[in-house]
Amino acid sequence: MNTTIIENGIKAKQFDSVNGRFGEFGGMYVPPVLESKLLNLANVFEEETKKKDFEDEFIHYLKTFVGRPSPLYYASNLSRLVGSRIYLKREDLNHTGSHKINNTIGQILLAKRMGATEIVAETGAGQHGVATATAAALFGMKCKIFMGARDAERQKMNVSRIKLLGAEMVLTHEGRGTLKDAVDAALGYYIEHPDVFYLLGSQVGPHPYPTMVGYFQSIIGKEAKKQVMEAEGRLPDNILACIGGGSNAIGLFTEFLYDAKVAIHAAEGGGEGAVLGKTAATLSLGKPGVFQGTFSYALSDENGEVYPTQSIAAGLDYPGISPQHALLKEMKRANYHLITDAEAIDAFKILSSLEGIIPAIESSHAVALAMKLLKGKEKEISIINLSGRGDKDVERDLM
Ligand SMILES: *Cc1c(COP(=O)(O)O)cnc(C)c1O
Repeated sequence: MNTTIIENGIKAKQFDSVNGRFGEFGGMYVPPVLESKLLNLANVFEEETKKKDFEDEFIHYLKTFVGRPSPLYYASNLSRLVGSRIYLKREDLNHTGSHKINNTIGQILLAKRMGATEIVAETGAGQHGVATATAAALFGMKCKIFMGARDAERQKMNVSRIKLLGAEMVLTHEGRGTLKDAVDAALGYYIEHPDVFYLLGSQVGPHPYPTMVGYFQSIIGKEAKKQVMEAEGRLPDNILACIGGGSNAIGLFTEFLYDAKVAIHAAEGGGEGAVLGKTAATLSLGKPGVFQGTFSYALSDENGEVYPTQSIAAGLDYPGISPQHALLKEMKRANYHLITDAEAIDAFKILSSLEGIIPAIESSHAVALAMKLLKGKEKEISIINLSGRGDKDVERDLM
């Protein structure tokens, strides 16, 4: 590994994956039937993403189908309220309404090149389910989406969208009926049908998913860096994102990881507060362990038994986390904060009425963190990743 020190003690490539590991985190903890499949997928990913025609095809769909680049918007009303200078990276304006589509397009292009005909995926808030069903429709592939029954109840609009897009919805009534249970069900199906393509939606699970998802989402930060340089002529002081599994956050962060002066902050779904069983703040309150195919942090006890999680945001309601974020936490390169349901609901209302932008309840956690962290920091420039739009949340009783 190259150990050139770039700035402030940060070494080149120290946060990147090496053979599926981010430091000690990551890896591939799966049954043997999946191991050869995943190793093959890792090779295909590595080979294809080196090719110019793959990159061209990816960018083509991001531009013409997704609507990228997404704008970097100076939120003047929010900035005035907080007393700082705040930009929003508008992932909410992407086709299908969140950042999930970036990764979905990338993975389905790999699936197509591998000759896959059936796609399976899990979904929490339904955004990844919608993005996957959309990509499957685009490329004429069969699609099956696993979703927890409780999540389906609280994100009804997305269930209807997934069905309309022609995918099959499989509700799981196991556990608490949330994202963890959907991942278990989707992984179970994959183990029984290893010839399907499992299109994982966040920066979690076994290698190569965390590396792949991080790669496809990094378009967010690449655009944001260029846009903030154009607008301000310098790098931001802070970048912020909400974090469930870690994909929108790493998407923004990757391009800035080696810019030591840029402070990095993420908002976890804190639920009712810092009490195990009533929160989903995995990096704030969890500890290292193997969970759903990877070695990272998890909200689990000494015996590896996973605690129930709670967050008002279905997309953050998950007891696991990305192995790369686990490394960023341990290296103190990024800071992870617990944001409660109540704080997120406040921010949801404030951004809507103040700025004319209805954020997803997940993204509202990042806005809430910004409101706490940036108060009165007049000279500082910050970027919040607005990971998705809140249409799916307006009919819920959040007020
Ligand atoms: C899925 C989702 C999240 C959480 O997932 P990450 O992988 O942590 O980004 C956040 N915001 C929105 C809008 C989502 O759909």
